[in-house]
Amino acid sequence: MKLLASLAMTTSLLATAAIPADAAAQAQPGAPQDQGSLRISRAGSQPSARGPADYFTGRVRVDMLFPATAPSRMTGGSVTFEPGARSAWHTHPVGQVLVVTAGAGWVQREGGPVEEMRPGDVVWIPPGVKHWHGAAATTGVTHIALTEQVDGQVATWMEKVSDEQYRR
Ligand code: MN
Repeated sequence: MKLLASLAMTTSLLATAAIPADAAAQAQPGAPQDQGSLRISRAGSQPSARGPADYFTGRVRVDMLFPATAPSRMTGGSVTFEPGARSAWHTHPVGQVLVVTAGAGWVQREGGPVEEMRPGDVVWIPPGVKHWHGAAATTGVTHIALTEQVDGQVATWMEKVSDEQYRR
């Protein structure tokens, strides 16, 4: 199981509703074949998941947004960290984008400063860069994580972020 991980594995949890392509086009003989229906995953159609204790410190809620749908390798999830909660150290094979949607959080790459992230901030984490992300010490945070799979994996997990490392 990899990042958001808890996410990547929850593909089957994604309740989706297929929306028929334009009915008129479908009815016409010789019309272009259906190249795929829209898929709208309704809010609240699937249960929230708990961030696995092996990969997170503190209370973390993961709400899967979408699994990878070939040929796309992109996955999306919304992750909510209670104050003090954070991921373990990890890397992503082809990087990750975090879009902060609520609260106040911290993010750090190995060897760099612990940096604040706030709603509207977009954080790009380059491929292979060891890092962690999570809430601020006294304020929770929610971010959307967009992560591409490689060979079905979106992250490589490492050690937990210690209390000494988790401060700024
Ligand atoms: Mn990450």
